[in-house]
Amino acid sequence: MIGCNCKVCSSPDKRDKRLRSSILVQSSTTSLVVDAGPDFRCQMLTNNVQQLDAVLLTHSHKDHIAGMDDLKAFTYFTQKPMEIYADAPTESAVRREFYYAFSDTRYPGTPEFAMNVITTDPFLIGDIPVVPILVWHLRMPVLGFRFGKFTYITDANRIEEIEKEKIKGSEVLVLNALRKEKHVSHFSLMEAIALSQELEMPATYLTHISHQLGRYEEIEHDLSPGIHLAYDGLTLKFT
Ligand SMILES: [Zn+2]
Ligand SMILES: [Zn+2]
Repeated sequence: MIGCNCKVCSSPDKRDKRLRSSILVQSSTTSLVVDAGPDFRCQMLTNNVQQLDAVLLTHSHKDHIAGMDDLKAFTYFTQKPMEIYADAPTESAVRREFYYAFSDTRYPGTPEFAMNVITTDPFLIGDIPVVPILVWHLRMPVLGFRFGKFTYITDANRIEEIEKEKIKGSEVLVLNALRKEKHVSHFSLMEAIALSQELEMPATYLTHISHQLGRYEEIEHDLSPGIHLAYDGLTLKFT
C-alpha cells in the first residue's frame, strides 16, 4: 500500500509483495488471463508471457481492468484484436474507459479489442472450457470462472446456492479473502474458510489479500490443511 509502513508493507518476504489480483491460465495451445489490472504490464513482463489469446473480465472495478491499454503489446505482434470476454455491464464499462480503442479513426498504436459479451452460459476459448459463475460484490454482479478442475473467484462477498453448485467437485478453488475483519463487499478470512469447508474443497488458495490481513508466514501457519494463502507467482498444475 502506497505510503504504508506496516509489518506487511515493510516485510522482506516476497510473498508479502502483492500486486493486483489476476491469473494466467494455460493449456498446451491456449493462454488467457483473468483480469488486467494496473499491474498487468509488470505481471506479463515478470512472467515472460509471450502469447495471450484472450482476457476474461470478472467486473469493471479499476483494479481489474486498468491495465488493458497494455494489451496493445500483444495486438501489435499478432496484428489481431485481443479477444475480451465480459458480461454486459463490464463490456460497456470497457467501451467507456477505453473509448479510444473503439474509435473509427484509431490513433496508431492503440490497442484493439474484440468484445465478446458473455452470460453464465459455458463457452470454450481454444481448448480451455470456461464455466462462468455469478457471484456478488455487495450489489455488483461479478463473474467467477471454472476451468475444468480449477475455479477462480475474486471480489465476492456472497454466492447464491445455485451458483455454488457449479463450484462443487473442483480440485482447487481460488477465493478472495480481504482481511480478518468483516468487509461490505469482500469475504473476510473466516467467511472464505467457511465457504471452502461448506463446498468441501480439497484445496483452497486465498487471493485479493489486503495488507490488513497480516504477513504470509503468520497467517499461513494458522490455516488448516488444504487452505493456503496464494502469492504472486504461485503456479498450479493440472493433468
Ligand atoms: Zn472489485
Ligand atoms: Zn478487486
